[in-house]
Amino acid sequence: MKNVTILGSTGSIGVNTLDVIARHPDRFRVFALSAHARVAELAAQCAAHAPRFAVIAEPHAEALRAALRQAACDTEVVAGPGALESIAAHPEADVVMAAIVGAAGLPGSLAAARAGKTVLLANKEALVMAGRLFMDAVHANRATLLPIDSEHNAVFQSLPRNFADGLARTGVTRIVLTASGGPFRTRPIASLSQVTPKEACAHPNWVMGRKISVDSATMMNKGLEVIEAHWLFDAPPDRIEVLVHPQSIVHSMVEYIDGSVIAQLGNPDMRTPIAYGLGFPERIHAGVPLLDLAKAGRLDFEALDHDRFPCVALAYAALRQGGAAPAILNAANEVAVEAFLNGQLAFTDIHAVIDRVLSTAAIREAGSLEEVQAADAHARTQARIQVTERMALARLKG
Ligand code: NAD
Ligand code: MG
Repeated sequence: MKNVTILGSTGSIGVNTLDVIARHPDRFRVFALSAHARVAELAAQCAAHAPRFAVIAEPHAEALRAALRQAACDTEVVAGPGALESIAAHPEADVVMAAIVGAAGLPGSLAAARAGKTVLLANKEALVMAGRLFMDAVHANRATLLPIDSEHNAVFQSLPRNFADGLARTGVTRIVLTASGGPFRTRPIASLSQVTPKEACAHPNWVMGRKISVDSATMMNKGLEVIEAHWLFDAPPDRIEVLVHPQSIVHSMVEYIDGSVIAQLGNPDMRTPIAYGLGFPERIHAGVPLLDLAKAGRLDFEALDHDRFPCVALAYAALRQGGAAPAILNAANEVAVEAFLNGQLAFTDIHAVIDRVLSTAAIREAGSLEEVQAADAHARTQARIQVTERMALARLKG
């Protein structure tokens, strides 16, 4: 029986994780759940799964306690500074699903790694911000790190088991991350400045949280994933490629020196990588319909259009710059995406804001959590200034 903690249980990944767990009551026990503010959803999850602990942001703790009392659920509510970290590192938890979105997920993800847990990492932003720190924590504390992001899960499945000996030494020449191209792959570029949050969040193949949906529409998601792949697999930037594949059936591939290419395929359903992580090293049912390639009919591939998706090049540049550059990229992106979702920023200005923040920032080291958080905070301030300036400009024009 594995005790599972889910950080971000009310989100898209969190709900899918609970779905897989519920299919295997003989294998998994829900040990702790966490949410930011959705009291009713978290209370319902506690009533259904009876975890020992539930973590929520402090202002909502009393409301959650009341909801749990009403449901006669004896889950203990934990809130306040350090709550997520202490639950992530709890000695009785075996597996921690890190599924909080954005920089907010870093402290919990890092605490799980430092406590030597089996970490199922969906929270890619943690690796983008603090890749070196996070991977050092994994190695120093013998944590088991299993990527949940579908592309990285596919790469993990396609790599040789001893890939940690070095990609070149194990005959790997390239990692190819596939990308659907999102909702705007074929939309006229000139019209992109006018797209709405609703259009940006309508992903053709995946149902996901709003932030990652916008990231998929700008393809910054793929940029973040290039950085994520760099840290997970110790792959140099020029060994990581992006290939557009609109059907999202080939989830990524690994190319070998002898010309072989090994890929992982499946229906686009996050329960497959989640079940892989939960069951590892065994395979377990995920509730996902099996892939019918005859029905799918065709698999298309095309090169990435950098004019349409300039965010990918920004991410490669930040990765090559190193230090705190990826943390700055990530923070500026989070601010810009939120502003876009709030109707304060044009879709095409997401890239402009990040570019400006990155090109004007002094890039420092990112060796400690404090340094990473300082870079993150500074970049957020700069990005907000950029957003405000653009709002003023739009008002003048409009
Ligand atoms: P979501 O928005 O649906 O859910 C986010 C979860 O994080 C919620 O439970 C929310 O309560 C919690 N949260 C948000 N802000 C918080 C804060 N400040 N403090 C504490 N908790 C907070 O997001 P999602 O789509 O499930 O994505 C989660 C992570 O997984 C992201 O990093 C995303 O990039 C990654 N991911 C998601 C998918 C997908 O299919 N949804 C695929 C690959 C990777
Ligand atoms: Mg992905």
